[in-house]
Amino acid sequence: MTVVDDLAKTESKSIFSQTAVMGHEQVVFCQDKATGLKAIIAIHSTVLGPALGGTRMWNYNSEEEAITDVLRLSRGMTYKASISGLNLGGGKAVILGDPAELKNEAFMRRFGRFVDSLGGRYITAEDVNMKTRDMEYVNMETNYVTGIPESMGGSGDPSPVTAYGVYMGMKATAKHVYGSDSLANKSIAVQGVGQVGMYLVERLIKEGAKVFITDIAEDKLAKVAKSTGAEVVAPDKIYDVDVDIYAPCALGATLNDETIPRLKASIVVGGANNQLKDEAKHSYMLIDRSITYAPDFLVNAGGLINVAAEYYGPYNRERAHSDAEKIYDITLQILRMAVDESMTSHDAAIKIAEKRILENRKD
Ligand code: NAD
Repeated sequence: MTVVDDLAKTESKSIFSQTAVMGHEQVVFCQDKATGLKAIIAIHSTVLGPALGGTRMWNYNSEEEAITDVLRLSRGMTYKASISGLNLGGGKAVILGDPAELKNEAFMRRFGRFVDSLGGRYITAEDVNMKTRDMEYVNMETNYVTGIPESMGGSGDPSPVTAYGVYMGMKATAKHVYGSDSLANKSIAVQGVGQVGMYLVERLIKEGAKVFITDIAEDKLAKVAKSTGAEVVAPDKIYDVDVDIYAPCALGATLNDETIPRLKASIVVGGANNQLKDEAKHSYMLIDRSITYAPDFLVNAGGLINVAAEYYGPYNRERAHSDAEKIYDITLQILRMAVDESMTSHDAAIKIAEKRILENRKD
């Protein structure tokens, strides 16, 4: 029985049942009437170090949806930090509500005080709908925050380092599948040319790959096509392009029942989080179609590596890049292990991550 199977059975159960199965240490519900703040901070594990993970603000349909999101995201951070060899645990925060309506200085500073009250067990950063300005407000109340601007001694935008890690993971996967890690003359479809996708496309073009790009934001798409020479594809056609590699760099769950049968690629490596809609089912579907998948939480760890470098400081971008380069070796190790032990690459990555946590338990 996998963790995913266990989780499926806990969907409608109490928070204590869910956190018992998933292994969370602590879940904190934060509320402030004056500012309208409602937040949940989930600390999955502090075995390897303080739980670091971003804060996401989202207008969830229900409190249950927010709880499920924060529990899954925080567990993912534990695995990401562990497999990357960082001395960090896993945590995440979600803030419930409409950012345009609620977010202001008082709101973010109140959130910062909640983060501070945990005494460093949880360290926050940016995630969806959070900007560096918001982290500046949080920083007025606590030092347990990363992702603050370079002008304030922080590490700034983590996306170039994330993209570099994805690029390293892609080269390692090419080495595993084709015997060479050169991406020259390989055809690659990049879905989403936002922060991560754009930097990735630049690297791929520089190496001589033939790159196809798509994005629902037409202005961004046209800009990246113009600056890099990549070929534009309509958003709904990206799964059908005849390419060697598919790189999901937009949202999650794009590897699913509908898209996997359409893929022509033999490799999937991208920056998006939670690419497999159903971790167990869809990683086996990829194997059945002879598609090699590099686990998302491993190859997109560059952003976390970058903020970890900021937290433990003094921050040095070259050092963050050289740490992200290690994603190449770990990806190769995981892909070989998956073959040798007849398991999915996703399960192999989780096994390695869990092993390090178990070995370092203090109780
Ligand atoms: P971003 O918002 O800058 O870019 C995402 C892009 O995807 C946007 O341009 C958006 O228009 C596009 N998009 C959304 N839905 C689409 C669709 N259906 N088809 C095509 N394009 C679509 O975000 P980002 O920072 O580049 O992050 C991209 C992904 O990588 C996210 O899943 C994020 O969670 C993950 N990630 C980012 C970092 C980082 O350092 N920024 C680190 C780890 C993981």
